[in-house]
Amino acid sequence: RDAARHSADVVVIGGGQAGLAAGYFLRRAKADFAILDAQTGPGGAWRHGWESLRLFSPARYSPLPGWWMPEQAGEPFPTAGHVRGYLADYESRHDLPVHHNVAVEQVVARGEQFEVRAPQQTWRARAVISATGSWRCPHLPRYPGWDLFGGRQLHTVSYRGPAPFAGQRVVVVGGGNSAAQILAEVSTVADTTWATARPPRFLPDDVDGRVLFDLATQRALAARHGEPSAGVAGLGDIVMVPPVLAARGRGVLRAEPMFQRLTPEGIAWSDGRVQRADAIIWCTGFRPDLRHLDTLQLSIAATGVPRTEGTRSIDHPRLHLLSYGDWTGTASATLIGAGRTAKAAITQVLSDLHTMTDARS
Ligand code: FAD
Repeated sequence: RDAARHSADVVVIGGGQAGLAAGYFLRRAKADFAILDAQTGPGGAWRHGWESLRLFSPARYSPLPGWWMPEQAGEPFPTAGHVRGYLADYESRHDLPVHHNVAVEQVVARGEQFEVRAPQQTWRARAVISATGSWRCPHLPRYPGWDLFGGRQLHTVSYRGPAPFAGQRVVVVGGGNSAAQILAEVSTVADTTWATARPPRFLPDDVDGRVLFDLATQRALAARHGEPSAGVAGLGDIVMVPPVLAARGRGVLRAEPMFQRLTPEGIAWSDGRVQRADAIIWCTGFRPDLRHLDTLQLSIAATGVPRTEGTRSIDHPRLHLLSYGDWTGTASATLIGAGRTAKAAITQVLSDLHTMTDARS
């Protein structure tokens, strides 16, 4: 059956927080646009994640543009379910045209337009905003012996809670917040080993996501004025949320250097030490989910990501890549940072579309 054909000036691919923030500014400008999202309902990556997952900053430090996240009663750090509800309400409150269940497979350049192809529908667009996040692209570094290991291996995306690991020996890999939080709760039921590629960097106890965001804002302002800024990077990575503080109190927040290889029974370090393990949880991050852009054959920067100027693709100036990490805007892959980046991208997109229209008339 032929795919239904539609058109819009701007098609946003992805209806998570970044796609919704873009939608907010497009709606405000009364633009002709659609948001295509692969999932069955609202919430983006916040539909997934482990049961105890919480924001590392209070609700008032996690707003999208145009509407503050409400406080969650009894929870200073909101749960993923609360964020999901906020995004669902945000979608309807701003009357955003999100088409769920539409998984874009390809974006094809056709002269001055793009063709955005999903299995049941094809959209013509003059500009495309890609905001597909990274949740569907977990990064798993394949260490030697990967296939030999006889226990269970899983990535953060598949972790739901500590219960299946009760009484086991578990290795948690990674030096970020996901690793620290998962280690903190698995260590309440299992014997854990924590392996990190470099020594973990803990934020001071009294610093939570608020300070990170304030620093990110300072850094964005400094960059805008061409000034250098030490910013977030100098401060640390791991936010000492209550479960992580408790884990430190129990003495389990001690990191080992990264092991060299997996063995049938566990892991082995280069100095000859070995450790038996029943499971390895890889909290080793994500990569941008850009498979739908393969057809455009975007040129790749030395850092391994498509070449952009801000969010705008160097190869296709009316294609913007939104909120994939600091390379698409300072703190753009956080709730509070998404709005700032979306505003700049949409301003540029709409100005480019006007220029195109003027040039034609
Ligand atoms: P996503 O939320 O992943 O949304 C992308 C959407 O696009 C999804 O619905 C997806 O299904 C859809 N999609 C993908 N491919 C296609 C396609 N081809 N066609 C159509 N649709 C597609 N941030 C904070 O601000 N505070 C925190 O405390 C915080 N904690 C975090 C904890 C964890 C464990 C993680 C992983 C992240 C955390 N973040 C936090 C970071 C950040 O807020 C999220 O990563 C955020 O979900 C990114 O939003 P997004 O809209 O870019 O992507």
